[in-house]
Amino acid sequence: WQRLTEGMRRTSTSLSESVTGLFTKRKLDAATLEELEDALVQADLGVDTALRITEAISAGRYNKEISPQEVKTILASEVEKALAPVALPLTVAREKKPFVILMVGVNGAGKTTTIGKLSQKFRAQGLKVMLAAGDTFRAAAIEQLKVWGERVGAPVIARAQGSDAAGLAFDALQEAKATGMDVVMIDTAGRLQNKAGLMAELEKIVRVVKKFDESAPHATLLVLDATVGQNAMSQVELFQKVAGVTGLVMTKLDGTARGGILVALAAKFGLPVHFIGVGERVEDLEPFEARDFARAIAG
Ligand code: GDP
Repeated sequence: WQRLTEGMRRTSTSLSESVTGLFTKRKLDAATLEELEDALVQADLGVDTALRITEAISAGRYNKEISPQEVKTILASEVEKALAPVALPLTVAREKKPFVILMVGVNGAGKTTTIGKLSQKFRAQGLKVMLAAGDTFRAAAIEQLKVWGERVGAPVIARAQGSDAAGLAFDALQEAKATGMDVVMIDTAGRLQNKAGLMAELEKIVRVVKKFDESAPHATLLVLDATVGQNAMSQVELFQKVAGVTGLVMTKLDGTARGGILVALAAKFGLPVHFIGVGERVEDLEPFEARDFARAIAG
């Protein structure tokens, strides 16, 4: 909670300041409500959600004085309501051995870092984790994954830059099975500038993974960078179409005032949100909690 509020300071400060500015010694009239709705849209909560929240705040209080604190309390409760259905933990099914997690997302979103952080969490639960360096386009991505693997004690299956990612994924799964791994996480390339290539490659990886185990991937996690704001919406659409996303991880909530985008994503897609990234260190990945997040947003 401490790290979350610290990390979310920018999102909460900007909204909190608007609310305080709007409602200090002012009645809840049409003009204030409109300004409030604007502030909520500005905070990336999405137009529908902003409208719903504004209605909830005005219900029974129209033309009365309302304190900023009251507004924040209602705001937090409405945001929590919107997020509660998607705040779901990622459960590793122990009967799937290995449990296969495909990590997707555009370059720079924080995939590799999130894989490292997740590995640490799984290792702490006593799970044996293997990593597959499936972003074969970037030598730096392969190297970075190896560094994380070493740090958290997870073997990394990697090949030279430019190798076939699907083939590498298949080899990793076989190796994982042979060595009794509980979890395999497959890193992938996220070259948005070459959408056709990206799609073809992800589709091929999914196909090959299914050849290994029809029920796999058991989780396909889309990593989204909170700082891209509304852009996250089209990224979800794209990756859902190509890879069948089962859950979201939102990173970089520490460096942005755009955390509200999670509320818009929840309203539009209803996909589970498993974790949020609030920093670059290995411990800076938090399970997503609707109430904490809502309180952090409302300030
Ligand atoms: P990838 O291209 O998707 O694999 O992205 P990386 O894992 O390489 O991350 C890109 C950059 O974002 C790196 O500098 C990471 O340290 C940084 N990063 C990842 N997650 C977070 C986060 O939650 N907060 C912050 N501040 N930085 C992050």
